[in-house]
Formats: sequence, structure tokens, C-alpha cells
Amino acid sequence: MRIIGLTGGIGSGKSTVEAILARRGAVVIDADRVAREVVEPGKEAYRRIVEHFGTAVVGEGGELDRAAIARVVFADRDELRFLNSVTHPAVGEAILERLGELSRTRPDAVVFLSVPLLVETGGAERYGTEAVVVVDVPPELAVQRLVESRGMTREDAKARVAAQAPRADRLRAADHVIDNSGNLSALEREVDRVLAALGAL
Ligand code: ADP
Repeated sequence: MRIIGLTGGIGSGKSTVEAILARRGAVVIDADRVAREVVEPGKEAYRRIVEHFGTAVVGEGGELDRAAIARVVFADRDELRFLNSVTHPAVGEAILERLGELSRTRPDAVVFLSVPLLVETGGAERYGTEAVVVVDVPPELAVQRLVESRGMTREDAKARVAAQAPRADRLRAADHVIDNSGNLSALEREVDRVLAALGAL
């Protein structure tokens, strides 16, 4: 099994690239999705979060109210630290578990592990990725796409892009760069170029 890291700033096009990779036959593990799964009702992380923050962070259907949690942790660093201390290890363990299972059931698979902060958090060593692929766009284009297709306000999009690690840091850690400054067919070609360079699929 091959494990390749995929990362990029918000609005760079990671989700779009993941969809293309899945169509090419790769297995994609998306850390954001895993992060939502580990806090589903019944999971250990869910139990600890509700125990700590109380029922004010539980929605009507019993699921966590992400907006309510966000309000609490954005106003209080200690609360954010607590939340991260519960969720980050849970996400890491869930990813390692899934990789272990895939290595048994799909030894021939090419797995792309999509982690927003792969470079920043040293995740590449932890998960044993053989290469890091960075999806790259100029920050202004990320802002424009977040506004146009995700309905964010310009201020919100700018703040979120600015809050991320500098583009240059990510690019320095990249073994391969997928340039997503063109249209969607150009992006498909970029993905295929990088797959060929990796000798994958
Ligand atoms: P990320 O997952 O990195 O935050 P997305 O894949 O969600 O980024 O892309 C951000 C937005 O930009 C999405 O709405 C997506 O549909 C759009 N998008 C991505 N790549 C392109 C492109 N090459 N051309 C036009 N829109 C794009």
C-alpha cells in the first residue's frame, strides 16, 4: 500500500482534488471528515465534550452543535485547548486505524491522506506518507472561490485564508505541487501529471 499526503490551504481545492483522485481509483481519507465522525453521538470524544461543555452544545437531534462549540472556544483559549486535546488524538487514532485496516484489506491501494495541517503538525512522519502533495492557489484566488462558490463573505474568507500557515511554508514541504489556478479541466490535467510523476494509478 502506498500512502501519499495531500494538503493545501482553505479554498485551495483539496476537496475538488480528492474527488478527482477517487475517480482515478485512489482511496481518499479526509481528515476533516474523520474529525466529524469521531464526535458523532456514542463516540468517546462526543461523551467527553458533552461532559465538559454541557448540554448547551448538543443539538436537537443529539448531535454536537458545532456553531455553539465554536462560539465557546473562539472566546476562550483554554476551552479551545481542551477541545483540541480531545479531538486531535481521536482523529489521529482513527486515521491510523483506517490505514491499518486498508493495509490488510487493500494492500495494492494508493491512499491519499488529506490533512489540512499535514505539514504544520508533522503528520507526514506520523502517518508514514512517502510524499507530500500540495494543492496550491494564490491566496487572492482562494478568497475569490470561497466567496463565489461557498457563499462566505469576503471578510470571512480573507480572515480564514490569512489565519493559515504561509503559502511559502507549505510549498517548501511539498514533493509535488498541484497548481489549481486554472479551470477544472486544467486541474484534472495537473492531478494526472502528479499521479504520473508519483508512478501511481
Ligand atoms: P478546499 O477543500 O481546499 O477548501 P475546495 O475543493 O472546496 O477547497 O475548493 C474551494 C471552492 O472552489 C469550491 O467551491 C470549489 O468548487 C471551487 N473550485 C475548486 N477548484 C476550482 C477551479 N479550478 N475552478 C473553479 N472553481 C474551483
